[in-house]
Amino acid sequence: METKEDVRDTLVFDMKDLRHEDFKAFEALVPPASLGLAYEEVEFIEPLSCSVQLFRQGNDNVYVAADVETKISVECRRCISPFEVDIRTTLELLFVVGSESLEQREADERYYDGETLDISEDVRQGLILDMPVWFLCSEMCKGLCSHCGVELNHEVCSCETTEEPAVLDSNPFSVLSKMLENN
Ligand SMILES: [Zn+2]
Ligand SMILES: [Zn+2]
Repeated sequence: METKEDVRDTLVFDMKDLRHEDFKAFEALVPPASLGLAYEEVEFIEPLSCSVQLFRQGNDNVYVAADVETKISVECRRCISPFEVDIRTTLELLFVVGSESLEQREADERYYDGETLDISEDVRQGLILDMPVWFLCSEMCKGLCSHCGVELNHEVCSCETTEEPAVLDSNPFSVLSKMLENN
């Protein structure tokens, strides 16, 4: 039978919670900074809203399904206006009692000590991968005029140019790779 606890604020679960049950659902509201999600380029404007389900498989293995969403505010790289984006990640992982170093694991398998299940790192990486690589307020954003700096979404300037809109960071992957490294 499904039982729900009060809303929690972490993505760490204790197997004692599953001692007498084979299934349990949790709701969590997790501060982004507690997962190390803190960046200059990205402002998290809501806590991570998490729905997590634990299913016992056999004696100690636990199948974890999680759905996590939040809202971020970022600056458009063309017109430098801030805008909001919803990001979300869905995880399905099988936690198996064992130790990381001894065995080769499948992509969706995690080893754990039989007591504590921690999906923080998987959620952190999932959310980062769901962030847009290019922060653009719209595919159609005209950006700033590279000559006079006027924001071309709202104004027209008299410069004659056929150049592409100015881009503030020439490497779209630099921000992403920096985030994935930073634990
Ligand atoms: Zn824009
Ligand atoms: Zn101009």
